[in-house]
Amino acid sequence: MPPASKILSNKNLPRVMILATGGTIAGKAATKTQADYTSGQISVKAMIAALPGIDTVADVRPEQIANVGSQDMTFDIMTALANRINDVLASGKIDGVVVTHGTDTMEETAHFLNLTVKSAKPVIMTGAMRPYTAISADGPLNLFNAITVAADPEAEDRGVLVVMNDRIHGAHSLTKTNTTSVETFLSPINGLIGTVNYGQIQYFRRPFRHHTHRSEFSVQGVTALPRVDILYACADMPPDLIDCSVANGAVGIVIAGDGNGNMNAATVKRAARAAEKGIFIVRSSRVPSGKVGRNVEINDDRLKFVVSDELNPAKARVLLMLALLKQRSREEIQQLFYHY
Ligand code: ASP
Repeated sequence: MPPASKILSNKNLPRVMILATGGTIAGKAATKTQADYTSGQISVKAMIAALPGIDTVADVRPEQIANVGSQDMTFDIMTALANRINDVLASGKIDGVVVTHGTDTMEETAHFLNLTVKSAKPVIMTGAMRPYTAISADGPLNLFNAITVAADPEAEDRGVLVVMNDRIHGAHSLTKTNTTSVETFLSPINGLIGTVNYGQIQYFRRPFRHHTHRSEFSVQGVTALPRVDILYACADMPPDLIDCSVANGAVGIVIAGDGNGNMNAATVKRAARAAEKGIFIVRSSRVPSGKVGRNVEINDDRLKFVVSDELNPAKARVLLMLALLKQRSREEIQQLFYHY
């Protein structure tokens, strides 16, 4: 294992900051072949020091922001991360950032950063499906590839990207689709941004929606976000879930609707009553792919609902929380869902 000082001294290479938050990429198990493990155990310095060949790719600066499984990711950590990224990229001393993160809520943090980072410079997230100590661990190559993309000026102005299993995904489109496979992330709505194979990068497109330096959202100085709940629609859904959320302080509710953002008639009625009182009701879908359209089987105009368009429930919640940091009309919120 090379000493950390050697890794950190390649002054003519692109300067890439690695901000680590934990996850399976830093996970540890008692043996190399067991399924059970604990996320967020290995330090980022140890991971970088053991990464073969990275000293020819970038001058890397590791920093530990947190070390948690991403099931324990919080908006406090996300906000600290966004503010730290904004500071380091504004300093002019860093060319790109890599964020290591658990895969469970990677898409939420990716979308959050895509909306709150104020720079066109590359911000790349990565993680792993197999713990750091496992046989055929996927984390080291994912991290290597993520650093090569963060060091590449061509990655600029593509929004926050997620590099996993040789694929480059956009924050807006990606979603986790498999509980254990290394090929878990897909971008079912708008497709991949590109591929990266042992550091060989190919780009296919730029994201279509607003992001990063073109986003109107900011978490600078923000200490708390408004509560938005997600309710999962199902056959015979109990409508009083809506009342329960409102009673507990939710100012917005995202429905993970069935099909094209549907819910049963009893829940529609209860949600409309909440919307009438000023609660923001956003119809998204529990289906992994496809847009949710306005006024299809539910009359959104009459019932005062918003549709999430392309955003899945978890990302719709992030957008609504950031949007509600400021007072906005329902019509403005709907427009945000068409543009982000
Ligand atoms: N539970 C882990 C996490 O999200 C899973 C992973 O990283 O793949 O931190």
